[in-house]
Amino acid sequence: MIAGKMLDDWKTSHPLIKDLVELRETTWFTPVRAPTAEALKDVPLNAHDVADASARLNRFAAYFQSAFPETLPTHGIIESDIQQLPSLRGALDARYGQALPGALWIKKDSHLPISGSVKARGGIYEVLKHAERLALEAGLLTLDGNYEVLDTPQAREFFSQYRIAVGSTGNLGLSIGLMGARLGFQVTVHMSADARQWKKDKLRAHGVTVMEYASDYSIAVAQGRQQAKDDPGCHFVDDENSTDLFLGYAVAAERLNRQLSLAGLKIDAEHPLFVYLPCGVGGGPGGVAFGLKLVFGDAVHCIFAEPTHSPCMFLGVYTGLHDEVSVQDFGIDNITAADGLAVGRASGFVGRTMQRLIDGYYTVSDDELHALLWLTADSEGLNLEPSALAGVPGVARLHAHYAEYLQRSGLSVEAYACATHLIWATGGSMVPEPEMQAYLAQGAQVLQG
Ligand SMILES: *Cc1c(COP(=O)(O)O)cnc(C)c1O
Repeated sequence: MIAGKMLDDWKTSHPLIKDLVELRETTWFTPVRAPTAEALKDVPLNAHDVADASARLNRFAAYFQSAFPETLPTHGIIESDIQQLPSLRGALDARYGQALPGALWIKKDSHLPISGSVKARGGIYEVLKHAERLALEAGLLTLDGNYEVLDTPQAREFFSQYRIAVGSTGNLGLSIGLMGARLGFQVTVHMSADARQWKKDKLRAHGVTVMEYASDYSIAVAQGRQQAKDDPGCHFVDDENSTDLFLGYAVAAERLNRQLSLAGLKIDAEHPLFVYLPCGVGGGPGGVAFGLKLVFGDAVHCIFAEPTHSPCMFLGVYTGLHDEVSVQDFGIDNITAADGLAVGRASGFVGRTMQRLIDGYYTVSDDELHALLWLTADSEGLNLEPSALAGVPGVARLHAHYAEYLQRSGLSVEAYACATHLIWATGGSMVPEPEMQAYLAQGAQVLQG
């Protein structure tokens, strides 16, 4: 029984469940997409909240230039480049046997400074917001003062009285841990079994306490939540529900808008933007998509990508059960090489508030992620971690269903032909070389298969 219904009855009422349970690659364009202006009312946050987050990140720019010199080229702003992918596009045409439409671009959050993944947006933002509040209350800082004071022994001494806890499959822990430890906080990261050893080693080398569990992400998060509940001096970063994380991700959109303009790419009703976002618990892609909808409105189409073994958001939205159901309830094991996406139960906040703003969901097999990892490295010289490849097949999935999609979305054939397709690459630049070689070897093997 799953939410009062037998699995067979679920398969009858929701036919794609059969494919998901059998771990087949599956695509679903939702019937619930609504006009942006209408659907944005579902989200209890707005453009002012994103602007507030953006202003906070700007206030910290002087701190970052001092504490993390790798942010000097971007003047203390943690941001990644966009890049066109002409060679990968050719490789995808060949792999999927179709001439894919429009222009193919990548957003390289894989190369974000400090922690090398999309978590350098939300995770770091939440730590900064917490640190700022404490420092303001203690009179260590003023809103219009120089935030470089936070990069001093006195500030670190001050923050060392406080604790931060988080549950993670790896990258969120890496971001919270590296940022929190640099500010002086005592950080504990509760890591799920999926977390890669090098991420735990790196954190420990920076003085972060890493707790390891044999179980999956949900248990790691529960442990972090418990730790913070018993300790008033401990801030828990709640990956499943945090609006701060969400807003940290959302700031990406205004910056992307500037990058696209600089690259000469126009986004409007006649030139739509399709964005393919790897999804774990949903906060990262949800927050980015929220920001994109605020900036581009109906001209942007957001599509979430998950591993065939962890389709938690797909299942949650498709069944309408959201966080009341896990992939394990449906007999899906949540075991995947895409460790950043190894989440069995989606964020209820993101699923419920964002479902009318998201256009579709699809799943990708681990073999395909490895094959795409090899193809992306070979064609473009970009080394990504398995999770970060989930967005790559999106344009082919869309194209395979495009007649149906155009009808549903009201997009014209002409506009579709002028679309820009953006793969959100979420991690990989910090993967140690031997680990990357092993991923590449697996990809080569799949392609020879
Ligand atoms: C965390 C993560 C994601 C997805 O973010 P969620 O907030 O968990 O949905 C995607 N890719 C990578 C590499 C990640 O670490």
